[in-house]
Amino acid sequence: MFDVIIAGCGPTGAMLAAELRLHDVRVLVLEKETEPVSFVRIVGLHIRSIELMAMRGLLERMLERGRRRPAAGFFAAINKPAPAGLDSAHAYLLGIPQPVIVHLLEEHAIELGAQVRRGCAVVDLEQDDEGVTVELADGERLRSRYLVGCDGGRSAVRKRLGVGFPGEPSRTETLMGELEVGVPQEEIAAKVAEIAQTDRRFSLRPFGERVYQVIVPAAGVSDRAVPPTLEDFRHRLRTIAGTDFGVHSPRWLSRFGDATRLAERYRVGRVLLAGDAAHIHPPIGGQGLNLGVQDACNLGWKLAAQIRGWAPDTLLDTYQAERHPVAEDVLDNTRAQMELLSTEPGPQAVRRLLTELMDFDEVNRYLIEKITAIGIRYDFGAGPDLLGRRLPDIDVKQGHLYGLLHRGRGLLLDRTERLTVGGWSDRVDYLADPTAALDVPCVLLRPDGHVAWIGDDQQDLDDQLSRWFGKPADGTVRER
Ligand SMILES: Cc1cc2nc3c(=O)[nH]c(=O)nc-3n(C[C@H](O)[C@H](O)[C@H](O)COP(=O)(O)OP(=O)(O)OC[C@H]3O[C@@H](n4cnc5c(N)ncnc54)[C@H](O)[C@@H]3O)c2cc1C
Repeated sequence: MFDVIIAGCGPTGAMLAAELRLHDVRVLVLEKETEPVSFVRIVGLHIRSIELMAMRGLLERMLERGRRRPAAGFFAAINKPAPAGLDSAHAYLLGIPQPVIVHLLEEHAIELGAQVRRGCAVVDLEQDDEGVTVELADGERLRSRYLVGCDGGRSAVRKRLGVGFPGEPSRTETLMGELEVGVPQEEIAAKVAEIAQTDRRFSLRPFGERVYQVIVPAAGVSDRAVPPTLEDFRHRLRTIAGTDFGVHSPRWLSRFGDATRLAERYRVGRVLLAGDAAHIHPPIGGQGLNLGVQDACNLGWKLAAQIRGWAPDTLLDTYQAERHPVAEDVLDNTRAQMELLSTEPGPQAVRRLLTELMDFDEVNRYLIEKITAIGIRYDFGAGPDLLGRRLPDIDVKQGHLYGLLHRGRGLLLDRTERLTVGGWSDRVDYLADPTAALDVPCVLLRPDGHVAWIGDDQQDLDDQLSRWFGKPADGTVRER
């Protein structure tokens, strides 16, 4: 019997497995594919995800395999420089292919003790008061206390739960692949520049010697389970560019749509959903993987608390309360961005207007903070603006703040040096007189780096420690 079974070892499942292992939860990840997928889908990690990698000690490995690029030009691919002074020690885009991210996250989860079984497709589930029975395609049945569906947009877990997935179906489809070309680079660059004037869904980018990543609009919407052929690519390139650039020898070929959907619920009893299993949207702005990894960091410590037995009653439900609105917002911003890609005169006029508005620093900053997820503020009730936001990776006496969050515990930063985490010290670390960079007396951080409390009063603090971290281990509650 495992504590948690995770269906799917994509970026969300792998990150969640590692988060749970930080708290010694027995985790099994079941992955349908026998080999890791090699499709290079993503542009990269945005600021908040980079920060999360720093918080878990993973950033060095990611930086070795990726490339830093400016944190700009994401919103509807409108080309504006990043606003000055973004509030992050990691204010860049980390260009890194999705298969590399998944490999590094899976490696990290396994190092921490997670078990990953490949070639195991979850096909059914049943839950009762004690746990969940998971059935695999070969008929094997496994038991765990909780199950998390991180099994992508066509999630079997979500379907078996009967959770609704309302939204819009795909209206357009795009072919994407890595192929060798048969014409000189200059010829391709000139043609791509010409077409980019009118069609923003078309691109050929060099991806190594003679190999190009080709993105070209498909003729219509087809069955996404059926991979496109080399001839499909040639045909569409000839239709749109007047030449097929002599493409041949594909490394891989794929297609994606622009369906936009959000799960009605993220939790049904002992089964939860995260990542693409809970939300899908067009890839514009490069947010899907980032959103899933951030779901995992929000859910991991809460589910671990539930399993370890110290979670306050409502803690696990704050996962949906906090993350559903974030996904709703991402879906909406991708809808808006897709409209701005249209070549119709109306959307083009709105695009020109927005391009002008982005010259105002505040507009540019608002959009970048939205796409990179550093603007997120969870609703923890009334309080200063910092409450519910993530604390940036500020310098503290011991080095960088995020270096103190590797173990996924809470943290009290106490400038007054008068407060104590008392009976919660098995879950929450304490740092006295941490830094002058903090302009408030004390801050309580959750394991995901969000500010749970600001103040200087011990009784207030105890209330908030109870709210987020349950009863103190020694059972003592200070006299009022
Ligand atoms: C062209 C394109 C470009 C993109 N660019 C970006 C980008 O730049 N930035 C960004 O953040 N996002 C981007 N995305 C989105 C990103 O790829 C997804 O949001 C991300 O992969 C979601 O991760 P996930 O782990 O939730 O799901 P997935 O990556 O889909 O992983 C799900 C895993 O579950 C497995 N699985 C499925 N069914 C089962 C089952 N029944 N049992 C067991 N295992 C199962 C699958 O094999 C897979 O390994 C892009 C997407 C596309 C299509």
